[in-house]
Amino acid sequence: MTYSDVSLMIDGAWTKGAGSRTIPVINPATEEVIGTVAHAEKSDLDRALAAADKGFKQWRKVSAFDRYKIMRKAAELMRQRVDEIAPIMTMEQGKPLAEAKGETLLAADIIEWMAEEGRRTYGRIVPARAENVYQLVMKEPVGPVAAFTPWNFPINQVVRKASAALATGCSIIVKGPEDTPGACAQLIKAFVDAGVPAGVIQLVYGVPSEISEYLIPHPIIKKVTFTGSTPVGKQLAALAGAHMKRVTMELGGHAPAIVFEDADLEQAVNILGANKFRNAGQVCVAPTRFLVHEKVYPEFVERFTAYAKNVKVGNGLEADTRMGPLVAERRLHVMDTFVSDAIAKGAKIKTGGQRKGNKGYFYEPTVMTDVPLSAKIMNDEPFGPLAPITPFKDFDGVVKEANRLDWGLAAYAYTRNTKTAAAIGAAFESGMVSINHHGLALPEVPFGGVKDSGYGSEGGLEALEAYLNTKFVSQLGM
Ligand code: NAD
Repeated sequence: MTYSDVSLMIDGAWTKGAGSRTIPVINPATEEVIGTVAHAEKSDLDRALAAADKGFKQWRKVSAFDRYKIMRKAAELMRQRVDEIAPIMTMEQGKPLAEAKGETLLAADIIEWMAEEGRRTYGRIVPARAENVYQLVMKEPVGPVAAFTPWNFPINQVVRKASAALATGCSIIVKGPEDTPGACAQLIKAFVDAGVPAGVIQLVYGVPSEISEYLIPHPIIKKVTFTGSTPVGKQLAALAGAHMKRVTMELGGHAPAIVFEDADLEQAVNILGANKFRNAGQVCVAPTRFLVHEKVYPEFVERFTAYAKNVKVGNGLEADTRMGPLVAERRLHVMDTFVSDAIAKGAKIKTGGQRKGNKGYFYEPTVMTDVPLSAKIMNDEPFGPLAPITPFKDFDGVVKEANRLDWGLAAYAYTRNTKTAAAIGAAFESGMVSINHHGLALPEVPFGGVKDSGYGSEGGLEALEAYLNTKFVSQLGM
């Protein structure tokens, strides 16, 4: 299997960039350099901005119906090319092939849903107080968008932004993830090959902070959207605020997963286990603080530990692999810091707790108990395959712990009691809640957080609203 070097997309053409500089791409399962990604220069960014300006003026005039037809074609291309695209993602990002295929196919669903919904960006007519006055509420595309996307879902994090922008008539410059550029480029290629006009969609790579500091204040850019860590999100939101740009922020989380005493433990272990170790835990909505009623705590710990021991870790290209490596070497050091800090504060490691092997950035699925609230892992987002399990006594106590942190992205609960389910659903301070199953991230439902997890939504009707301005026109006589 081969990995091709990745280019920039500017004004309808793939380019190596003005300086021909490149960044190496590393396969995290083998530590080998498998290719390069082009590094944009300032002159490339200027060309991307000019193209986005031109592309917007053209694309906004294309009818929603015609935009929908082109986008449907892009969705079809993603489906047709899934066997080509998924291995690229696995080679650069590490996730098992089945997960990479699932992400590619979900992208097609997202493009289609946004394209269809773009045809329904209705305005309204508000009854007037005076005769012969017509009060029109109109929706207009916000303008050229600057999007910054991370490496954990190289396609999914981009497609939510790009398809909402395109469906509403905006143009976009995507600053893709340098760790995992190839799959992201394949998504952009599907849009271009489907007939999205030159200038409507750009793709650039380089030094993230240099690109964001240049694009966000630029007068051509009218909207900023970012997925990544909370500290970077706060910096970018502040910069956008200084220039009064519309903003969507999808930031980190530290999802509580509550298991009540009446939960179906087998169901809870299987679903929470699958979602804890999916993508090696590098998922913003991964369950990260396991809070289990004291009566079922010993049994849950035993079962969950058995689940973790059973997860087959390896190269994602191998058919029986259930969990691949972490994306980059730096993440191994972060995991070690979490684990050694927890141990120093009294935690017990039930399984895992260290790097697996010495080639590839593999980390063992890790379960820990007796973790005090002062431990780093109970306060900072682990973004890896670490599961701290803590017992609780009563409803009020567990709600207090669930809502203790400044984050509020996803929250989970398991119970057979409908009253408890309703009460915990209401009590969570979280943008998304899933009870007795893992039901998040479909195209048609909202996706986003509250508190330090950001604002705005990247799914459902709200996803399109974020790319639209509301204009009010009051007209006498018609
Ligand atoms: P990081 O914060 O440096 O990078 C995260 C992402 O933000 C990367 O894609 C990076 O290119 C981008 N980025 C960083 N600085 C930027 C800037 N100034 N302007 C524009 N983009 C910028 O850290 P990392 O080591 O790559 O990941 C570590 C942490 O990031 C994780 O612990 C997790 O909290 C967070 N993260 C969150 C998500 C998510 O889905 N919410 C995805 C990836 C990473």
